[in-house]
Amino acid sequence: MTLLQLKEINSFYGGIQALKNINIDVNEGEIVTLIGSNGAGKSTTLKTISGQVKPKTGELIYKGENIVKLQSHEIALKGIAHVPEGRRIFSKLTVKENLEMGAFSVKDKKLIAARMEMAFDYFPRLKERINQKGGTMSGGEQQMLAIGRALMMGPSLLMLDEPSMGLAPIIVEQIFEIIEQLNKQGMTILLVEQNAYQALQIAHRGYVIQTGEIQMVGEGKTLMNNEEIKKAYLA
Ligand code: ATP
Repeated sequence: MTLLQLKEINSFYGGIQALKNINIDVNEGEIVTLIGSNGAGKSTTLKTISGQVKPKTGELIYKGENIVKLQSHEIALKGIAHVPEGRRIFSKLTVKENLEMGAFSVKDKKLIAARMEMAFDYFPRLKERINQKGGTMSGGEQQMLAIGRALMMGPSLLMLDEPSMGLAPIIVEQIFEIIEQLNKQGMTILLVEQNAYQALQIAHRGYVIQTGEIQMVGEGKTLMNNEEIKKAYLA
């Protein structure tokens, strides 16, 4: 079943068109990746889905409903979690407090506790550092915290913007393994990456975006073996 559908999305920053007639489908249970070079429009696509950028035209169909006119917080409450580029955790708050912030809309204390335990199952490191201030954590730990915080709201769709950025290769491996694990447990994931090789390896399907337009779409493995993609993104 289609969970999210972008239909003919056109987004602008002032007079500059960042997204041109974007069509993307994300099916339930999939990892879909969006790859492309710097400035191609990857982050803008996620921001458009989460309501931070309002498209001039086009539709965002989520669970059968057009959510394009909703505000960011309403879209989040519908179950779309956005982990932005650069993590943006609360640096003065502890790990525990950061996670609690992710569940701000949840009233049930037991549910909050259960979700926190689930986050700790994925990221044992966070449990070890439960009282540490977010800002003093390593880049990889902050990324784990940002993903953990997103999980606290119990999303149906998890959108990750460049989770591998600035991390050591071994940490990148760990993060990608966790993304796969989350997906195996049923989470639908939309993954934006410059690290095309790793993203395509774990993705069911991928979209290639270039100067605001979708250039190619296909299965992760098919795209990985495509000569043009190899030259442009996997060199
Ligand atoms: P990167 O990996 O560098 O973030 P990206 O593929 O995510 O690249 P976007 O950040 O979506 O690209 O940017 C798409 C285009 O929109 C670029 O030309 C960029 O300069 C422009 N852009 C992005 N944010 C703004 C903004 N706040 N104001 C004006 N232009 C912007």
